[in-house]
Amino acid sequence: MALTDLLLLGQGLDLQSERGVSCTGALPESSDPKLVERAIAARSALGNRAMILGHHYQRDEVIDFADIRGDSFKLAQAAADNSAAEYVIFCGVHFMAESADILTTDFQKVILPDLSAGCSMADMATAAQVNNCWEQLSKLNIAAKTIPITYMNSSAAIKSFTGRNGGAVCTSSNAERAMKWAFEKGEKILFLPDQHLGRNTAFLKLGLKLQDCVIWNPWKPNGGLTDQELKDAKVILWRGHCSVHGRFSLENVNQVREKLSGVKVLVHPECKNEVVTAADVVGSTEMIIKTVQESAPGSKWAIGTELNLVQRLANENTDKEIVFLDRTVCYCSTMNRIDLPHLVWAMESLVQGNIVNQIKVEAETAKYAKVALDRMLALP
Ligand code: SF4
Repeated sequence: MALTDLLLLGQGLDLQSERGVSCTGALPESSDPKLVERAIAARSALGNRAMILGHHYQRDEVIDFADIRGDSFKLAQAAADNSAAEYVIFCGVHFMAESADILTTDFQKVILPDLSAGCSMADMATAAQVNNCWEQLSKLNIAAKTIPITYMNSSAAIKSFTGRNGGAVCTSSNAERAMKWAFEKGEKILFLPDQHLGRNTAFLKLGLKLQDCVIWNPWKPNGGLTDQELKDAKVILWRGHCSVHGRFSLENVNQVREKLSGVKVLVHPECKNEVVTAADVVGSTEMIIKTVQESAPGSKWAIGTELNLVQRLANENTDKEIVFLDRTVCYCSTMNRIDLPHLVWAMESLVQGNIVNQIKVEAETAKYAKVALDRMLALP
């Protein structure tokens, strides 16, 4: 890992620790043989007062209790569509719980069972850094013709910046539509915070050249770019990435093709450009699941996405051969922080009338973040 990546990771850890301790009170022991029984009892006691949302990257022990499974987009829609449940228990990471809070009514309370479940990619773009970038673009008279697009995997503060400045949120399934929409409104895009999704969409879907994209490094003056580079660029990519999907390499693709005859490589667009270019199929989490489910028995897939999901797909599709693209195992460590003890603790606390680990986005931030989220939900 490069030094700058370690610095970015370190910054993410700082942000997570700023969010405070992961939970208050005593967690049940993970070895408690009655843990599943306790989870069932607490879930039953909460009844319709609670809705449990589970991201596809969650552990099986947690996803088993999810009322709705989905990627970040599907879960945001589920949160927006359900105004009845008083508690929305979000088994995912911090930015997803923030979006759920923004999209639910004031009566609903969004609970993240472990507050240290952040996202290293989301933490790679802070509000201060993005405001600084925007100031530089304004000085160059570029900001007025630049539309910010932020990936769902960003903090509420970044979504709010995007909403205030005429932009929209996107997900991996609608990034192409969001970028086309932005080019109808302006001449340039500032794409936050995932450089890979921005580059892959510009290159593979919009037909732009790699040279049309530049990378803004928030740790360098002027983003490490000349004024002319900023003026010439069509897409300014933020220097952020997913620490899980960024691990997959072209070598992984070549090796699996050599070892497994007839294998098809299926990857998420958060992977590097050289990986998505060499893959057979590129798609969002929901698209990866659908592709595997609908493929013919006997088909072989090497999948480049989070390991909990790949393992689940292998277990649920035993008529197909499913392997992880990288031989070295890698879960998303922050997604994995939500485990059954944390879920049981959160549910039992709610049963006892204690609202714990509530995620509440400040009103002004939420107002403009919702503008950006609503623009995404209204994309043609
Ligand atoms: S898989 Fe990557 S983008 Fe998703 S939560 Fe983990 S670090 Fe963030």
